[in-house]
Amino acid sequence: MKLHEYQSKILFTMYGIPIPNGRIANSAKEVRQISDELGGKVVIKAQVLVGGRGKVGGVRIAKSSDEAEEFANQILSMEIKGLPVRKVLVDEAVSISQEFYLSIANDRNTQKPVLMASSSGGVEVEDVALKTPERIIKRTIDPLLGLRDYQLRDVAINIDLDRMYWQEFGEIINGVWKVYVECDATLVEINPLVITADKRLLALDAKIILDDNALFRHPSLAELRDKDAESGPEIKGRAFGVTFIKMEGNIGCLVNGAGLAMATMDIIKTLGGDAANFLDIGGGATAEKVAASLRLILEDQNVKAILINVFGGITRCDEVAKGLMTAYNEVKPEIPIIVRLVGTNDEEGLRLLRGSSLIPAETLVEAATIAVQKAYGG
Ligand code: ADP
Ligand code: MG
Repeated sequence: MKLHEYQSKILFTMYGIPIPNGRIANSAKEVRQISDELGGKVVIKAQVLVGGRGKVGGVRIAKSSDEAEEFANQILSMEIKGLPVRKVLVDEAVSISQEFYLSIANDRNTQKPVLMASSSGGVEVEDVALKTPERIIKRTIDPLLGLRDYQLRDVAINIDLDRMYWQEFGEIINGVWKVYVECDATLVEINPLVITADKRLLALDAKIILDDNALFRHPSLAELRDKDAESGPEIKGRAFGVTFIKMEGNIGCLVNGAGLAMATMDIIKTLGGDAANFLDIGGGATAEKVAASLRLILEDQNVKAILINVFGGITRCDEVAKGLMTAYNEVKPEIPIIVRLVGTNDEEGLRLLRGSSLIPAETLVEAATIAVQKAYGG
């Protein structure tokens, strides 16, 4: 789950990471008021959960409160990469003498946290990584030992940071590390971290991604979720307890277990098809949950065939079949639904499907082959 910049900055303050003075606003009027309080030279920043706002006019520097109000009106009526701007952050504008990049993230390769820093801050880090990878300093952090002091000095030297800032820089990295650990984040990023003309270190931008699987430990952070950032079916799916992710293809998938769902999508791809979604009904799903899942898949107009792949363990195949028949009888879909049910109570499950137009298949390959053929009209 991504946090907004203003939410991330609140966490930064709690962990002692310095940020510019500023406040969040919902209207241009409020922006004017905040701008007056901050002295008129402010930055108006669209709060949407995408990067590169600066490039598309979502970050504007105003020289007066009049200008601040004008920019706020413009930004609050924008859509950035498909997301409506509902709030803007008003920060004091600072004069920047140097911009750095700093982050701690999960590194899948080393399976450890990685600290990254660069003196090429402000621009998208992906661009730096592509064009001048040597400018990104990466240091793996041992999760048991934590961040070590020598690592801080090592990074400071390698980004050519003036010695007078080392102490402060160390405190900032330690703050980032604490946010990362204590909030169960997968990414904590400051881009840019700047040295101002009056020689202060400030986090001008803030990005935090939290690990969804650890959110149950942070109920107050979980409440910060922005529903705009997720598409309709994903929220609906979460509401009845399944993991649903929309994809671009035309074969709907309903599967129990994330691993099996991935394998199912892989097989569809191998056979030349494309999955319309990832859907994991989890273990021990009830008929209601299965019915709701099938309805959700059927809402997608792109779907030309549906593949049900259930390997019954805790999940009972008869319960799955009941759910399928409920949604099927209600919606009466014209598109072919191919069902592979094996495991607990599979015979009973298949018996329940008999007489309907659902197409049973014995193996996953057989089921996926039929689904791909049907999806492409063959
Ligand atoms: P994004 O990464 O989405 O483009 P940023 O918050 O990084 O948004 O802002 C883009 C650029 O705007 C920054 O790299 C910085 O140069 C400038 N900027 C952002 N906040 C301020 C500020 N408070 N004062 C002066 N310049 C700023
Ligand atoms: Mg930025």
